[in-house]
Amino acid sequence: MKIAVFGAGYVGLVTAACLSNLGNFITCVDIDTTRISNLKKGIVPIFEPGLTELIQTNFKEGRIDFTTDDKAAIQNSDVIFIAVGTPQGDTGEAYLGHVFKVAESIGKYINGYKVIVDKSTVPIGTADQVRKHVKKNQTKNLDFDIVSNPEFLREGQAINDFMIPDRIVIGVESDKAKNTMLSIYRPIERTGRPILVTDIKSAELIKYASNAMLATRISFMNQISKLCEVMGADIKLVAKGMGLDDRIGPRFLQAGIGYGGSCFPKDVQALIATLKQKGCEADILEAVDNANARQKAVMPAKVKSVMKDLKGKKIAVWGLAFKPKTDDMREAPSIVVVNELQKMGAKITAFDPVAEETSKKFLKDISYVRNPYDALKDADALVINTEWDEFRSPDFPRMKKLMKDYYIFDGRNIYETSEIKRQGFKYYSIGRN
Ligand code: NAD
Repeated sequence: MKIAVFGAGYVGLVTAACLSNLGNFITCVDIDTTRISNLKKGIVPIFEPGLTELIQTNFKEGRIDFTTDDKAAIQNSDVIFIAVGTPQGDTGEAYLGHVFKVAESIGKYINGYKVIVDKSTVPIGTADQVRKHVKKNQTKNLDFDIVSNPEFLREGQAINDFMIPDRIVIGVESDKAKNTMLSIYRPIERTGRPILVTDIKSAELIKYASNAMLATRISFMNQISKLCEVMGADIKLVAKGMGLDDRIGPRFLQAGIGYGGSCFPKDVQALIATLKQKGCEADILEAVDNANARQKAVMPAKVKSVMKDLKGKKIAVWGLAFKPKTDDMREAPSIVVVNELQKMGAKITAFDPVAEETSKKFLKDISYVRNPYDALKDADALVINTEWDEFRSPDFPRMKKLMKDYYIFDGRNIYETSEIKRQGFKYYSIGRN
């Protein structure tokens, strides 16, 4: 099938790479000329395991190309995926300007029947607006269908999530569009993954409701972790005990320093905005959002209460990305942690396996080092923000030799408290002291 994918970001590139690898011919369009010329040279703008290799292979074999020419991409494709950004607008709602711009181009250049697929995360009712934008710009009355096909991939395991998803959701209004979408996803369905076909509005809401539920679980556990600290319980054991209940399940029960990234914070805000606009209560999600903002400040407050005066103290930071296996820094809790520590006078030396470059847009006055141990030289304390695998079993004696004092503030609960105390560290984590 000939497919255009608008947006060469996380979702667009993963969609384009995976669909080309299944034999489709993909034209990936972006307005960012540098990004497109780099992609043509095999330079992929984001760190995502396996993505560069997949793009390079399919580019060489002629199944994927990159362009800024929206007209050609639209006219040479039967299906058009919209995978552009939907960042947070001024009052929390999703900003849909990029999506509508693509819809306008489609209207302008449409030259035959097209299936137009909203893959960007968009509020319920957006497909109707996309339809209007296409129609308004059409000069000839050519037929098209709108489909909602939200994306559920997680950064860091995006290829796997696209190829072996928990589910594929397709919101459609016509059999013609449904059959086109089913044929695109048949090679994935073949692996036993379920496809749920719904109306368009339900599909749009499934995405927001899913992210909001996951964010709610995280904020809930973070709130319970505080009670664990006050009363002397262990949040990891509490989570384990809860997760063994089939009705609850073990995932997304980890307490930590809050959720971040390009999706949960803005999607929770956008759903709050939609609920309010449509006259519905949003109090549950407002509480989730507030709890998360508070949680990001928990670790610096803990450092302060334990170490007192931080003026001139050298603090090593392990991990900056909002989660492991990505260099994405958008809304990363580390931003709050580092800023707060700096405000209290601490000097920060940081290591992240891949997020050094991206973090420079969000953080200032940090010394960066190339391996975790270099950050520890003469450090008064270590603060862990991201649970990269390489931090899980470090050389504790070597760490002790390098550090001036032995405080570890673990925002991701990656160590066993008894073991790390046995090693002689003064260990503080979330919900376990
Ligand atoms: P991104 O910021 O990484 O990429 C968006 C790309 O769209 C940019 O390269 C930008 O230049 C391009 N763009 C903007 N306007 C354009 C236009 N008119 N024509 C062509 N390209 C244009 O964004 P992302 O993380 O890939 O997210 C895209 C959408 O997918 C969002 O709605 C997001 O909420 C959703 N989503 C993201 C993830 C994730 O983990 N990143 C997961 C699921 C869903």
